[in-house]
Order: sequence, then C-alpha cells, then structure tokens
Amino acid sequence: MKDRNFLDTVMEFEQQLEVMQEQFSTLKQFVAHMMEEHQSLQTENLHLRKRLEEVLSTQPEAEAQSGEQVSAVDIGEGYDNLARLYHEGFHVCHVHFGGSRKGEDCLFCLSFLNKQNG
Ligand SMILES: [Zn+2]
Repeated sequence: MKDRNFLDTVMEFEQQLEVMQEQFSTLKQFVAHMMEEHQSLQTENLHLRKRLEEVLSTQPEAEAQSGEQVSAVDIGEGYDNLARLYHEGFHVCHVHFGGSRKGEDCLFCLSFLNKQNG
C-alpha cells in the first residue's frame, strides 16, 4: 500500500509539473509580447520626440506673437505637419493620435485630413 501511495504521489507531482510548464510557456509568450510592445512604443516615442522638436524649432516665435496673427498660412503649416506625420506612418486622428498605423490606412485619419485640407 505504501508503494502505491508513493506512485500516486509521483504521478501527481508529474501532473503538477506539466501544468506549471504550461503556465510558464504562457508567461514566456506574455513577456515576449510585452517586450515587442515596449520596443514599438520606444520607437514611436523617439519618433514623436524628434517630430515635436522639429515642429517647435520651425515655429520659434509662434507663442511670442499675438493671437490675432493666426492666419491661413499657420493653418496650412499645421496641415502639412499632420499630413507628413500621417505619411510617416502615424495616426493623426483623434481616435488613435500619435499611434503607429502599422502600415495600414486609417479612415478616421483620411477623413480628418480631408476636412483640414478642404
Ligand atoms: Zn487614424
């Protein structure tokens, strides 16, 4: 009887190991996914920082000027910046603003850019 109990215990232990292995595998997949996500966010963040610096450096006097100076030219520049950002692969729509388009066109972005242009 003691041997029988021992065998049961060993088999139970084996089952627990299998379950743990499955859980570990799931955990590994999760970590891999998170690392991928982290990498993509870092790239996106770096890109947005660069774009922000560019935008700020091309408009050094914008804030110093009075609010009445806003003209069609300013709106045109804003549109160009957004259109460029879109073509560089990022969302400019309010739904996903700043997020990567992952190579896919976005109807929200396109409709937004059309409205700005027209
Ligand atoms: Zn979009």
